Amino acid sequence: MEHPENDSAYKGLQVNTGVGSQPIVNPYRKARRARPQLSVNDYVEGILKGDVSVLGRAVTLVESTAEAHQAIAQEVIEKCLPYSGKSRRIGITGVPGAGKSTSIDVFGLHVLRQGGRLAVLAIDPSSERTHGSILGDKTRMEKLSQEKDAFIRPSPSAGSLGGVARKTRETIVLCEAAGYDNIFVETVGVGQSETAVHSMVDFFLLIQLAGTGDELQGIKRGIMEMADGIVINKCDGDNVERAKLAASQFRNALFLFPPTPSKWKPEVITYSGYYELGIDLVWDMIDRYFDYVKQTGYFERKRNEQAKYWMIETIDEQLRSHFYNTPEVKALLEQKEMRVLNNEQSSFTAAKDVLDCYFRVLREEMK
Ligand code: GDP
Repeated sequence: MEHPENDSAYKGLQVNTGVGSQPIVNPYRKARRARPQLSVNDYVEGILKGDVSVLGRAVTLVESTAEAHQAIAQEVIEKCLPYSGKSRRIGITGVPGAGKSTSIDVFGLHVLRQGGRLAVLAIDPSSERTHGSILGDKTRMEKLSQEKDAFIRPSPSAGSLGGVARKTRETIVLCEAAGYDNIFVETVGVGQSETAVHSMVDFFLLIQLAGTGDELQGIKRGIMEMADGIVINKCDGDNVERAKLAASQFRNALFLFPPTPSKWKPEVITYSGYYELGIDLVWDMIDRYFDYVKQTGYFERKRNEQAKYWMIETIDEQLRSHFYNTPEVKALLEQKEMRVLNNEQSSFTAAKDVLDCYFRVLREEMK
């Protein structure tokens, strides 16, 4: 007998019949089904209906590096293009701590109160490690993230700045087709990413802080030249006087800058994102800018320039990636690097050899 305790002659401790344990899986809950694959048309229809979950999935496809995903993404973008372009695209930059998230939260609410719908995107190529959370984390925009008319998406993570920027630009197209008529593109004001953002927005807002009197130091002249508006945040409490002083210094500095291509004179405004003071003044400036550039035709001109720029950028990026991912090129490049370092060949003839090798491979592929 396997279990002696079940024998009636057994005198030892009896094993009580236990209570059957509950099934681990709740039988009333429907089994979770895998999300059905969407076709290109499903994506496009969902986006045009303003379905946020479909939009989110489409953006994930845009961000994916898998070739199959990219193929669908490109078709979806192509079909959404005719419905895009009708938004105000606003770039927002400032160093960490300038108050970007606080400000975007209140600027965003302002836009929603006026009846708009808002998508907040970000470009932060450095966010690979944290998977986009430094810039796009929804908890940073607490109020806005609870609004149904706001779509917040962190920066696409990983990849070159060019690649990340292209994905953000493509996401703009999808968001516009989904009916978002205001797009904010946020970037951290410390590097090259401003140029990328500048090349995809209509208005570029630079958030500054009043510092210790030498505000103009440490601000890259290039970034100031790109700005259509400079706003000094944290103009509250003890800081009001300093913020006002900083504003007048910025105004004087701008005076010395060459005219902007739009001929719009960038304005300097103080506000407080945290205490929600002066938000309407900032927005009034942005409204005036859009009226102005639409009237002068600069709005259209700039958008056309940007479209051309992005075509060339995309070609550049794809050529580069094809070139460097060609196995023959990779192998030869390694050899040539050694030769150049050992002074056995000049950089120029080595480059020519590698390029010749690439073109040979291309010709072979075409045969
Ligand atoms: P970000 O790094 O540019 O996104 O900056 P945050 O929005 O996270 O703000 C950085 C810090 O500045 C936070 O502690 C905010 O509470 C504070 N802050 C932001 N805006 C204001 C403001 O208008 N006034 C004051 N006094 N503090 C602010």
